[in-house]
Formats: sequence, structure tokens, C-alpha cells
Amino acid sequence: MKKFDVIIVGAGPGGLFAGYKLAGKLSVAIFDMGRDIDKRKCPSDLSQSFCQKCKPCNITYGVGGAGGLSDGKLNYPIPEFPSSFTVGGDLLGLVDTEYLLKKMEEVDEIFLKHGAPDEVYGTDMEKVNEFLRKANSAGIEFVPLKQRHVGSDELPKVIKSIEKYLKDNGVKIYTRKTVVDINPKEKVITLKNGEKYAYDYLIIGVGRGGSEWLEKWVKQYNIAVSEKAKFIDVGVRVEVPASIMDEITSVIYDPKLRVLTKRHDDYVRTFCTCPRGWVIREDYGDFCLVNGHSKAKEKTNNTNFALLGHYEFTEPFEEPNEWGRDLARITTKLGGGNPIVQRLRDLRLGRRSTERRIANNRLVQPTLKTAIPGDISLAYPGRVIDDIIDALEALDKVIPGVADDSTLLYAPEIKFYSLRLKVNSEMETSIPNVYAIGDGAGVSRGIVGAAVTGLIAAESILRKAKKSS
Ligand SMILES: Cc1cc2nc3c(=O)[nH]c(=O)nc-3n(C[C@H](O)[C@H](O)[C@H](O)COP(=O)(O)OP(=O)(O)OC[C@H]3O[C@@H](n4cnc5c(N)ncnc54)[C@H](O)[C@@H]3O)c2cc1C
Repeated sequence: MKKFDVIIVGAGPGGLFAGYKLAGKLSVAIFDMGRDIDKRKCPSDLSQSFCQKCKPCNITYGVGGAGGLSDGKLNYPIPEFPSSFTVGGDLLGLVDTEYLLKKMEEVDEIFLKHGAPDEVYGTDMEKVNEFLRKANSAGIEFVPLKQRHVGSDELPKVIKSIEKYLKDNGVKIYTRKTVVDINPKEKVITLKNGEKYAYDYLIIGVGRGGSEWLEKWVKQYNIAVSEKAKFIDVGVRVEVPASIMDEITSVIYDPKLRVLTKRHDDYVRTFCTCPRGWVIREDYGDFCLVNGHSKAKEKTNNTNFALLGHYEFTEPFEEPNEWGRDLARITTKLGGGNPIVQRLRDLRLGRRSTERRIANNRLVQPTLKTAIPGDISLAYPGRVIDDIIDALEALDKVIPGVADDSTLLYAPEIKFYSLRLKVNSEMETSIPNVYAIGDGAGVSRGIVGAAVTGLIAAESILRKAKKSS
């Protein structure tokens, strides 16, 4: 059986950055169930109901991970604004601020070295503070961040360059290889095709796409979990004319705004703004979700962002992800296997959008052509619908026009939380030499956070390997 010093499961940002740190120092293999970055193409013609063209879905799986074909927004905290550390995961609960900032700088340097753009948003503090004042006066929390935008057209090139660096430095990258079992006692992984590989150190970075498998594995081997997923974020993707958001998005690419809603006092946030971008769909077997992306060069006349309510489940029902999957399934069903799009006017009036109503919506036409005009309120609970309307009306005070009748809403837009594995400050699980990083382990929620956890795990392995040699 072939043996490596380090096996990494998953070639997302977590896995790639762990590999980056280990490259040339130890023997490393990365296994990913998806395709190589240049083979990851999403069929542009998604006109058929329910895209099943790529298995696994090229948007979510493959070298570069879930972010591989994404917008590539790289979010970095600004120390003067402590809330900025809460974006992209709660890493401060695991490591101290100084170390975290150092690792983020390292991530940024690697991205820059491999082609990320020089431009940084969120650094014009006069304008940032002016927007902060405006948002706070309207009772809205605004989280300033430094952001780089790579663009979905450029990100694959950046990933390709990182991948080349890894290969040039001896890292083996195996694609279309699904890991079905990890036996921590024997220190062996098993692939779907039956092949087995041995390791000294293991890093699990399977992302959200691998979280269902990870949950089963954790139960099977009794791996310590620090928190079961108690939360879920459910909402819509909002699409508006870019002109109403240009002023803010030219300063802060992806403004993070947080609202407590009028009727239910629920926490609703904006997320993943895609200025002059596209709304897209992602397929997850028996349901689809919507998302967004924007390119560095090509632009549309629309801007979209996610608007997500945060819901907690305690007892007796403790399966928020199941609830979310049910909502996604019913919404997808109502859309005939597609996402639903609805004008805000129709949602307010309690009626479905139709093709004619959407066609008449002159200010903004959907960029996701395969979304079916329908009624989101037939799929989502009333409380979620109230929250969406209340949050848009609150946001209208800082982004005038966002709650206009013409605003388009797409569903299902749902962000699932993974269970959180118990890891120490080095990302090591309850099993010595087995590390868990990134979104799948519940320790990050974004490209930079996942990459940071990869670096931290790799540094720990290098320290241990040095001691034992
Ligand atoms: C459309 C889209 C847009 C996004 N845009 C942004 C953005 O602009 N900015 C941002 O910060 N974040 C964004 N995100 C989120 C970001 O992509 C993730 O937070 C990040 O990729 C998580 O990194 P990860 O390494 O933990 O996992 P992932 O990137 O999910 O990578 C995990 C990898 O593991 C592989 N895998 C899973 N299970 C197995 C298995 N059993 N065997 C082998 N391989 C397996 C998968 O194929 C995948 O490649 C976006 C996500 C999506 C889907």
C-alpha cells in the first residue's frame, strides 16, 4: 500500500493552502472527488429542468473547492472593528488575534503571488465611516472589512497557478477520487474504487459538500464534536439595478449589513454581494439553491446579494439542516426542478409572479434565465417571508431603492451550518495527527478562513514531524 507523510482530503482552499505550506517539505497527497480546475465547467445552458449534467456538480466539487468557480471575494478583518473578525467563521475562538492576522497576511500574499488583483476595497476610511454612520443611524449594523475581488473569470487561473506550484514542489493531486472511509487506528484511507493509502498525518478539508459524509464518519469513529449544527440561514437572493448599489459597492465591494427585523426581532444579514454580476444555481441532488458571482472584466447591469435570516433550533427538533433541505426541496419542486424568482411587488400582494409580470419589470430583468416565476411564500414559512420584507424595508434607508416593487427575489437561498468538530488551536481533532480544517469541520465560513485553517494545521504537522525526525 502506498504511504504518504500527509494525506489531505479535499482540494478546496483549506486543502490547497495546507498543501502549499507542506510542499517540498514532506510527502503529500491531496485527494478530491471533483475534477481538476480546468475541467470544471458549468454547462451554460441550464434550460433543462434540474441540471444533472455534472456528477459531482462542478460548481461545488473539485480542485479549488466550492470557491473554485466563485466570485473569489477575499475578506480580511480590520482590527479597529472587532465585529469584522466574525465574518467568515469564528477563528478567534481558537487562535489569538496576532497569529490570526499573521496567517491572513500569509494567505493574502500567496493569493497575490498567484495572480489576485492589487486593488483592495474597504480602505477609504472616510467613506467607510460615512457609510457606517448612515447605517447605524438607520438602526443597521455595518461590518467594515478589507476585501479583494478576484472574479469568477480570473479565480480559476489563480487556482491553476497554486496547483502548479504544489505539483512543481512534489505534491500529488488525485482528482475524481472520493474518500469513503478513514480508519484512524490503521491510519489508512479507502477510496470509492477500493484503493487504500496510508498516512502519518491526515487533514480533512471536505467542505460543506462533504459535510454529510463527515457527519457519518464522526459518528462511526466517535470523534469529538464541539457543537452540533443548531443554526441555519434561510432567505433569498436579491437582484436590483446595479445603479442603486454602485455608490456603496465601489467603496465596499460586499457590504455586510445586519438587521434585527421589526416583526420577529430576527437577525437578518446581507451576504455575498455580486456587483454587476449574475445569479446562478447550484445543484445538490434532489434540490437546487441559488448563489451569485461576478467577473473581473465582463459586467451586467444588475447587482445581487443574499439576504439571509438566521434561525436557531433547540428542542425537541434539533435538525436545522433537515428543515433547510425540506424548504429547498419544496421550493425546487414548485419551480419544476428550478429556483423560483418573484418580484417584491408580487410577494407583497400575496400572488405569484408570472412570465408576463417579470417581462414587464423594466427596471430589472433576471440574470438567471432558468429561474421560474412563482410564489416564494408557498414554499417558505410566513416568519421567513416577514423577515425578508422587513429587512429589505430597513435596508432601503441606506440603499434607497432596494425595497422597490421591482426588486427580484430568488429562492431557495440557504446556507447550511456544518457540525463543528472539536479541534485544538492547531486544528487537531480528538484523534492525534488527524486534523480537520475549513467549512466542513465548521471552523470557517469562507475562502480566507478555510485557507488560514489549512496553514495552521500544516504548521502543526511540520513542528511534529521535525520533533520526531
Ligand atoms: C458559488 C459559491 C460562491 C462562493 N463565493 C465565495 C466568495 O466570494 N468568498 C468567500 O470567501 N467564500 C465564497 N464561497 C464559500 C467558499 O467557497 C468556501 O467557504 C470555501 O471554499 C471553503 O473551503 P474548504 O476548503 O473548507 O472546502 P471546499 O471549498 O468546499 O472544498 C472541499 C473539497 O473537498 C472535496 N470533497 C468533499 N468530500 C470529499 C470526499 N469524501 N472525498 C474527496 N474529496 C471530497 C470537494 O470536492 C471539494 O473540492 C462561495 C461558495 C460557493 C458555492
